[in-house]
Amino acid sequence: MSRTILAGFVCLLALIFLAILERPEKVEDLKEDIITTQNFYEIPPMPAKDHYGFVTEGNELEVEEGVVRRNESLYIILRRHDVDPQMIYNIQQSASGSVNLRRMMPGQSYRIYKDDDGAFAMVWHQSKVNYATINWKDDITVETGNIPITVKEAEVAGVITSSLYETVTGAGVSQRLGVELADVFGWEVDFFALRNGDHFKVIYENLYVNDEYLGIGDIKAAEFQHRGNIHKAYYFDNESRRGFFDENGNSMQKELLKAPFNYSQRISSGFSNSRFHPILNERRPHHGTDYAAPTGTPIISVGEGTVTEAQYRGGNGNIVQIRHNNSYKSAYLHMNRFASGIRPGVKVEQGQVIGYVGQTGLATGPHLCYRLYVNDRPVNSVTVDLPAAESLEEEYHHEYEQVVQHFDDRLANIELVEEIASNR
Ligand SMILES: [Zn+2]
Repeated sequence: MSRTILAGFVCLLALIFLAILERPEKVEDLKEDIITTQNFYEIPPMPAKDHYGFVTEGNELEVEEGVVRRNESLYIILRRHDVDPQMIYNIQQSASGSVNLRRMMPGQSYRIYKDDDGAFAMVWHQSKVNYATINWKDDITVETGNIPITVKEAEVAGVITSSLYETVTGAGVSQRLGVELADVFGWEVDFFALRNGDHFKVIYENLYVNDEYLGIGDIKAAEFQHRGNIHKAYYFDNESRRGFFDENGNSMQKELLKAPFNYSQRISSGFSNSRFHPILNERRPHHGTDYAAPTGTPIISVGEGTVTEAQYRGGNGNIVQIRHNNSYKSAYLHMNRFASGIRPGVKVEQGQVIGYVGQTGLATGPHLCYRLYVNDRPVNSVTVDLPAAESLEEEYHHEYEQVVQHFDDRLANIELVEEIASNR
C-alpha cells in the first residue's frame, strides 16, 4: 500500500519537474509552406498601443476593422471612408515597388485609422502573418511587417490500426505530422508494411498567431515501434548541424530515400530478372519497382542530384533520370508530366517534386516504375543497403546526450492508449 503511495509521489515529482523543464514560448520564423493558408484571422482587441504602432488610447483615434469582400479594391474601401480619389491614386503610386495594393483578395482583414481629420492610415493583412501599414497623414509611408509566431510543444501517440495517415488524423493532428514522421523514420521503418499494433509517440511543435492555430512546426523527438522493434529519433539543431539522429548520434537520413513518394504507395510489381510482361506478352527482366498510384500523385527525387534526362522516350513514356553522385543514379518512368523547371542540367534536392504519376509509354494503368542504378547496374531499390548521411560530429556528442536524455524521459511518460480492435 505504502509502495503505491510512494510511486504516486514519484510520478507527481516527475510531472512537476517536467513542467519546470518545459521551455518558455519562443518566437520563430514560420515555415514558408504554412504561410499560404487561406483562412485569415480576426484582429484581436486593441492594447493601448497596438501591434502596428498606433497609440489608440486617449488619443481620439478611431479604428474600423473590416474584411475585404468580393470585388472590393483599395479604391472602393478607401472611398467608403471618404478618402479623396487623388489621394488614393497617390497612395497606390507610392506603394508600388514595396506592396501591390491591387492584390487585395476576399477574406483578407484590414483596419482603418481615423482622427478628427478623417481616415489617415490603413493596415492590410495579406495573410495571418504578413501585413502592410499605409499612412498618409503627412507624407505617404508604406511599411510591411509580420505578427510573431508562438511555438508551443505538444505530444501525441497512436496505435496503428489502418494506415499511418488515418492514425495521425484520427488522433486529431494535422496530416503533415504523418508526412514528417514518415520522413524521419523512412529508413528505419518500412511504411509499406505497417502492422496493426505498431505505434508511435511524438513530441512536436504547434505554431500559433495570436492564439490561433496555424499548423505544426518541427518534430522534436519521436518513437516508432514496428514489429516489436523500437526506433527513436531526436532533432538536433545547432548552428552548423541540424537534423534527426538516433540514440547514438547516427543520422536518421540516408543519402537516398527508399521510395520516391511522400506517402507509402502499393508496390504492384517488384524487381525481377524474369517477369511476364503484361503488354509485350513475354518474359523479360523488370529492373525496377512499380508503384500503383493514382494519376497526378507527386513523385519526389530520392536524393540530391542533377537531372540528366527529362523527355518522352518510347515505351518508358515520360522519363526523368537523376545522377546523385559518382555511383548512384535513379530513373522515374511513365510520368503523366514533369514538374515545372525539371529539365537536363537542373539541380534537385532530396524530396523535391520532379513529376507526377501517369501511364505514358507502355503501361496498363497509372503507375510509377522506379529504377535505381549503382555504377550503372540496376539494383533492387527495396532491398539494397544504401549509405547513411553523416553522423553527428564528436564535438556535439555531449550536447546531444542531454537532448536524448531530456526527450527520452518525456517520451517514456507519453501514455499509449490501445485502441479497441474493430471487427471490420
Ligand atoms: Zn516497371
